[in-house]
Formats: sequence, C-alpha cells, structure tokens
Amino acid sequence: MIISVASGKGGTGKTLVATSLVFSLKDGYRVQLLDCDVEEPNDHIFLKPDITGRESVGIPVPKVDKEKCTYCGKCAEVCAYHAIAVISKNVLVFPHLCHGCGACGYLCPEKAIVEEKKEIGIVETGHAAGVAFVQGRLNVGEAMPTPLIRAVKGLADHAGICIIDVPPGTSCPVVTAVKDSDFCLLVTEPTPFGLNDLMLAVQTVKQLGVPCGVVINRAYADNNDTAEYCLRENLPVLMTIPLDTEIARLYSRGITLAEGMPPWREKFKRLYLEIRELVDERSNCLKR
Ligand code: SF4
Ligand code: SF4
Repeated sequence: MIISVASGKGGTGKTLVATSLVFSLKDGYRVQLLDCDVEEPNDHIFLKPDITGRESVGIPVPKVDKEKCTYCGKCAEVCAYHAIAVISKNVLVFPHLCHGCGACGYLCPEKAIVEEKKEIGIVETGHAAGVAFVQGRLNVGEAMPTPLIRAVKGLADHAGICIIDVPPGTSCPVVTAVKDSDFCLLVTEPTPFGLNDLMLAVQTVKQLGVPCGVVINRAYADNNDTAEYCLRENLPVLMTIPLDTEIARLYSRGITLAEGMPPWREKFKRLYLEIRELVDERSNCLKR
C-alpha cells in the first residue's frame, strides 16, 4: 500500500505526519519511508537512519557533433523547453532547461546529437530501527526535480506500507510524487491561507484519481472553515492535531510527534487502519 503525504504549501506539518506514521507502524508492519521532497529532504532529521547506499541520478542532455551538424535548426524547433538553440553556425545547449526527453537527438536528420549524462542529484538508501528509508537530494541550483523523484519512487517496496513524503505545492513534482498512490493524506492548517492551498491540492489529487483524506494540523478552537469545506467536498477529516507548544518544541529538537508523545502512536495506527478501510472500500466499489 502506498500512502502519500502532501500539503498545498510547505510548513504545514507534512513531515510530522509522515514520520509519525512510520514511527507508529514500524513495530507491527513492514514499513518504508520515501522522502520525495528532494529540494529540502528533512525526514532523516527525525528518523536518523544509517545511510548505506548512495547513487547518482542524471538525465541525458544533448551534445552536438559539430562535424556532422548542418545547423538546420530542427533540434531547436522540436525542443518544447527552449533548451537548445541554433544561432548561425552555433548550437547552444542549456542543460538546466533540458528535460532529457531525447526528442532533439531522435529527430536530428544528421544524427549529430549524442547524449551525455548530467547528474541532477543523488538517491540515498538506508535503515532506521525497522524502517527502510530512501531519500533524494537534488543538487544545489538544479531545476529538474522530477527525474530524481521518479528514481526515489522506483525503490518503493510494494510488499509493505510505503509512505511518501511529497514536496510542497501543486506542480509537476507533486504530481510525480503522488501519482500511483493508493491514498493521499493532505495535511493542512486551519487558516485562510491553509484552506486556499488545501483547495488547490485537493484539485490536483482528484485529477490524479487518487482518493484522499485530510489531517488538520495546529488546530485551534473557533475555526471551522476547513472542516466545513471538507464536509462540502466529501473529504474525510481523518485526524486533528492541536496547536500545542510541546509538539512544536519536540519538532524543533528533531523528535517527531509519535516518538515524543507515545499516546499518539495508537492514533496514527488507527489513522492507517482507517486509510486501509477507505482504500479497500474503494477497490471493492471499482470491482463491482
Ligand atoms: S537538428 Fe542536428 S543537424 Fe540540425 S542543427 Fe540540430 S544538431 Fe545540427
Ligand atoms: S533532450 Fe529534450 S529537452 Fe533536452 S534539449 Fe533535447 S529536446 Fe530539449
């Protein structure tokens, strides 16, 4: 079962929920945590894994053989990302814009393009007391996180429970990370900004056809807008975590909720069981 943990924006408590889930499940289940927030991975701070493997991840960028090139301009025409330009007797490649799609090389009439690997980041693997751990680290200044996210997801363990910490936002990296999940937990905070970002995230996840539920973090009295929105949208609110200075204090010391406050472990286990029920119900409906 793959459960992704996403949020419309950063800082809402996505990492707290993802790490607390794995921490709560690790003694009874086979659990894996994939940190796909490759621009700022921080699950390792809470899990403190032993990293035992590192692998470079790259994308193929074009290199032009000047002997063969006739400067016809076809490569620049087909590049949707403006990563290659032909100016007079020069072909310029802008590796940071290149998505490594291979179209330019494939369509070059002179076969003047070869591909060379450009490293965009690394995938690290390891273990932390019963949890298999994978994280991606995007190189500084690199603008292409999705191939690295795909590489991290390529190591997903489908035989157990795989929790994916999704990058913040609603753009391509989020789509790549959430795609193919059995369920997506959307973490939000009950503020007008939080609600706005939740609405955007819900749209994205619904378009992907992934069922979702909500965790309201830093909840306080007298703010019902988020709960009302969830009710309207038929989105189950699966957990509410109160605004609590002790939780914030633990978090700032690199201790996740389920580790620092053991009674929460049962709540996170129940959260998982509820998700499993929702996923089972849905797959039974689809079979009918
Ligand atoms: S398509 Fe090939 S031959 Fe034409 S400009 Fe590009 S690299 Fe040169
Ligand atoms: S590989 Fe794709 S993205 Fe990169 S320069 Fe060629 S056409 Fe553009």
